[in-house]
Amino acid sequence: MKRLWQRVMIALARSARVKGFMQANPRMTNLARRFVAGPDAAAAIAAAHHLLDRKGIRTSFFYLGEYVDRWELVRENVEQKLAIAGLLEHDVLDVHISVDPTQIGLQTDPAQVAPHAFAIGRTILRAAAGRPGIHCIMLDMEDSSVVDFTLALHDDLRRLELPAAITLQAYLRRSEGDLRRLIANGARVRLVKGAFVGKSGVAFTAEGEIKANYRRLVELMLAPEARTNGFYPIIATHDDRIQAEAMALARQNGWPQGSYEFEMLLGVRSDVAEKLTQQGERVRLYVPFGRDWWPYAVRRIGENPANGLLLVRSIVSAMKEPPATP
Ligand SMILES: Cc1cc2nc3c(=O)[nH]c(=O)nc-3n(C[C@H](O)[C@H](O)[C@H](O)COP(=O)(O)OP(=O)(O)OC[C@H]3O[C@@H](n4cnc5c(N)ncnc54)[C@H](O)[C@@H]3O)c2cc1C
Repeated sequence: MKRLWQRVMIALARSARVKGFMQANPRMTNLARRFVAGPDAAAAIAAAHHLLDRKGIRTSFFYLGEYVDRWELVRENVEQKLAIAGLLEHDVLDVHISVDPTQIGLQTDPAQVAPHAFAIGRTILRAAAGRPGIHCIMLDMEDSSVVDFTLALHDDLRRLELPAAITLQAYLRRSEGDLRRLIANGARVRLVKGAFVGKSGVAFTAEGEIKANYRRLVELMLAPEARTNGFYPIIATHDDRIQAEAMALARQNGWPQGSYEFEMLLGVRSDVAEKLTQQGERVRLYVPFGRDWWPYAVRRIGENPANGLLLVRSIVSAMKEPPATP
């Protein structure tokens, strides 16, 4: 049932007509406000300070806009990522900059993706030089067709000694093999369940199977050998049972708090994130900003059918607003 709901929401997220209508609304709807920090870098930085200063929570910034097939939008995405990375030079924040390969040219000119990612990595390296914390470009993982490309990009970033990390998805059958290789290389990996739906040949399709695979992969990430290799685990889930299991495993295998971290999404189970920090864990929130909020927010709705009411209310409130002039 949940996977069916998720499929419907993914289709809605990809509808250009609905997206155009919702994003033309002059005010961000409640839906956007719940999951997105605001329209620009200033709003994102303010949200990150609020999280760090008041709650001790770190940030992963994400400038919204994915599966971009127009060159001018690719340029805008790269400029925004570079701008927010550059701002870190005058700040004390501990941040990752999350990047989707399809944001920075994969659909317009794949040869441009690596130079763009290298530029972002170099800017982070320069801006955060000498500061404590883990500052890096975090490669998000999109649908299964781009996994090889994203892994190769991550390897190239590391070969150049640029600060990088990568996301793996437990719904994909191949992720265990990918994870074993990354653990052997002492990489930084963010493990998620996966916001996409795949065919049974390449993916686990039942919720229980995905969860079981997630647990299996967490065990690999927090194994003593991973620690010896200098691997850095990032457990990105809102599932508090899995979080508790990971904490117990970390203690059992000699991982001190702060040598791994938990990551969650802005607007989702913030009480759980705060509780983790109170327990002494290192916690990061994924903080999206920008105007292209519809596909991102609707995928979040897809993850929890209970959010459906928020979706309906947001559409109704958008229908009451006059459309913005183009
Ligand atoms: C930091 C971060 C980065 C991510 N990056 C990627 C990526 O690069 N590629 C990718 O495919 N996916 C990514 N995701 C999304 C991820 O794949 C899952 O779709 C999402 O995290 C939901 O799975 P869950 O592990 O939280 O567990 P679930 O089993 O779905 O949920 C656990 C609990 O949290 C609640 N919950 C979960 N999501 C929501 C929500 N949206 N609203 C309200 N409650 C919710 C559930 O109701 C349940 O109680 C990312 C997630 C996080 C946290």
